[in-house]
Amino acid sequence: MPVTYFHRTRRIFDLPGLRSGPPNEIMVESGEPTSSEAVALPCAEIAHDIETWVFDLDNTLYPAETNLFAQIDVRMREFIADYLALDLDEAYRVQKTYFREYGTTLRGLMSRHGLDPKEFLDFVHAIDLSPVSPSPALDAALDRLSGRKIIFTNASTDHADRVMDRLGVGHHFDAVFDIKDADYLPKPDPAVYDALVERYSLDPHKTVMVEDIARNLAPAAALGMTTVWVRTQSTVGQEGADAAHVHHVIDDLADWLQALADLPG
Ligand SMILES: [Mg+2]
Repeated sequence: MPVTYFHRTRRIFDLPGLRSGPPNEIMVESGEPTSSEAVALPCAEIAHDIETWVFDLDNTLYPAETNLFAQIDVRMREFIADYLALDLDEAYRVQKTYFREYGTTLRGLMSRHGLDPKEFLDFVHAIDLSPVSPSPALDAALDRLSGRKIIFTNASTDHADRVMDRLGVGHHFDAVFDIKDADYLPKPDPAVYDALVERYSLDPHKTVMVEDIARNLAPAAALGMTTVWVRTQSTVGQEGADAAHVHHVIDDLADWLQALADLPG
């Protein structure tokens, strides 16, 4: 049975849009939380007045174990080697330097070399998606989830469309807000969240954001959104995961959405 964990410092009735209530049978049956800092509370209430669901794409809609980023990482290095006429080792150094200095490798290449972002995005996302399995479970769970659904990704819309096709869930989503829509500023730049809210006229207090990189949830929580962290083993993903801006912690998105839909009310 999936379970939502709340951190001790974060009580359910402190969260916008959530009602307090006694633990229900989900809590009783959930077993022990894996973190001593987390307490299990029912995942009820979250959906009652939610109008919009904002989902990250990569490692959120499909499991991180597919390791698609490893393929993208290699293609970034190959792109830079070709674009700047460097050997692969030097290209890798440039890649990681720009990532650190500009937030993404892409922004570094755009700022320093005037790169056409489409050329880069098309190349790095031309990966083998076969590690991503079709997900009838996610399809069924999204079918039962009322409200508008938006993809919010640091990748391109083309990549998002291909991944959603592979999963078999594309028809559930009303929009994709991609890195181009964000004017090539990546999450977690707060300006991008403001742009998202404005573009779709979101009421943050009636919006849930689901994401595997915990620090990307901080600006969402600051705006008043309810946040859901899809737990990951990655160091980057875990950074800040025990902070107050993470309201819910889950392991499997489809299971959790099904559990929400199964709750009375
Ligand atoms: Mg992600």
